[in-house]
Amino acid sequence: MNSEPQLKRRRTEEPVGDQVVMHRSMLSRHSIVWKDMFKVPQPYEQNLVAGCPVIQLSDDEKDLEHVLGIFYDNLKGFDAENPISFPIVAAMIRLGHKYQLDYLRDMAVNILKSEYPSTLELWDEGFDRISRTCDDSYADIVSLASEFSLNTIRPCVYLMYVTKTSLSAVMSDPLLSREEVACCVLGRDKLVAWINSTYKSKHFTMAGRRQDCQNHEKCSPSRRMIFETFNLWEVEDGNITVFPTWNRPKSHTTCKACYRDLQTCYDEVRMSAWKMLPSFFGLPDWEDLKDFDM
Ligand SMILES: [Zn+2]
Repeated sequence: MNSEPQLKRRRTEEPVGDQVVMHRSMLSRHSIVWKDMFKVPQPYEQNLVAGCPVIQLSDDEKDLEHVLGIFYDNLKGFDAENPISFPIVAAMIRLGHKYQLDYLRDMAVNILKSEYPSTLELWDEGFDRISRTCDDSYADIVSLASEFSLNTIRPCVYLMYVTKTSLSAVMSDPLLSREEVACCVLGRDKLVAWINSTYKSKHFTMAGRRQDCQNHEKCSPSRRMIFETFNLWEVEDGNITVFPTWNRPKSHTTCKACYRDLQTCYDEVRMSAWKMLPSFFGLPDWEDLKDFDM
């Protein structure tokens, strides 16, 4: 047996549960919390199994498996570009926060920030990108973001959740608190209402005559038709696509001046929707959102 003192993890008293042999030096190297704990004699030192002191941890078994696996599988080999399952990211944040494994916690937060950006430019960059974390766990992400006040990702996480989940599923989601459910339902409602009212208010402007229009007779109906196809919220085969970039409409044509005008209008509406996104979910403005603001 390794001469170095070793630790074992035991989940429960009866039955004994899983025990994992860990090196004290390895744990101390990664976490100041563990390092400090080992500096002073602890009651668990009396509780030996096969010569190793046993520490009982209250953490989730899977979380510990994920994080200790990263330690032993070499942290440097942990490729930040490869897909990673959300449970691993969540474990890095939960245990990283509890045991002050800041680099691990920050790495996980950065992965989530790249998936759920806080600027429209980054949103556009990742629009067609395949998610690095699994796509079917939005409620878990909402819950984690709320628990750890990962506020910079919350607007986007809420947006993705409410656009990929039916309203009835949101309202009965067992993973969310009543407050989270209320926040998501109200946010969805405010976003849709805002988009509808903005479109209506712009509609008449779009149908009107422009000074520089080269062919008003042809452009006027086309402008109106194109404007009506504007959609920040596209529903197709049950999937909702949010904030798509401007696509050149194929079925209606206008003069160049009108076309530019329509595109500008679309971009403006889209930008103001993004700016207001946090407020739909009851959050402060983008620039005032801070992570771990607990
Ligand atoms: Zn025109």
